Amino acid sequence: MAKVTLTFDNGPDPQATSLVLDCLARHGVKSTFFVLGQNVSTPSGLDLARRASGEGHWIGNHTWSHAGRLGEMTAEAALEEFDRTEEVLSWIDQCVQPIRLFRPRGGAGRMGRGLLHPAVVDRLTLGGYTCVLWNSVPGDFRDPDGWMDRALADCRTREWSLVVLHDISNGAMLHLDSFLSKLREEGHSFTQYFPLDCTPIVSGKVVQALDEFC
Ligand SMILES: [Zn+2]
Repeated sequence: MAKVTLTFDNGPDPQATSLVLDCLARHGVKSTFFVLGQNVSTPSGLDLARRASGEGHWIGNHTWSHAGRLGEMTAEAALEEFDRTEEVLSWIDQCVQPIRLFRPRGGAGRMGRGLLHPAVVDRLTLGGYTCVLWNSVPGDFRDPDGWMDRALADCRTREWSLVVLHDISNGAMLHLDSFLSKLREEGHSFTQYFPLDCTPIVSGKVVQALDEFC
């Protein structure tokens, strides 16, 4: 029995995001969607992000295009990835979602140097953002039918798992319903909050050394 936080990255996607939202609503689970700015810039993407927010999920900035690791870009390019996404998320009501969230692109869950760019770190600290990393990447993006066993194994062995899933159209989220049922059966509890060791910046305050990321 352990705590589980679910996050859904790289959406919104017309099919996958609606399916995920329906499933989370059925199970009464609240999560966070780390969206790509370019996907929210379309009318249907915006509708889905607003729907997620309206149903009590949190929305976080996951860069505009997911083009690369921020630390490997110029400061201008890294800031553009961040700022353009903030512009299309400016409708988020701070009364509804009091914490401003950002997750950098890892690339198959990779952390280490290059994950963050110092210029973006300045944005996060000045803007009071929380930077959300992860401790479970079961690989639903590359293994749509086999990710669930790895995700369950992580949730069984960790006191608090912060799981990265993806609301993208590869069919992986067709297994979300049975994943959630299994977690419940095994007595795990869901929370929308994040384990502190996965958040190097909390509300703009740096709480972990960032040298390993920049
Ligand atoms: Zn991503």
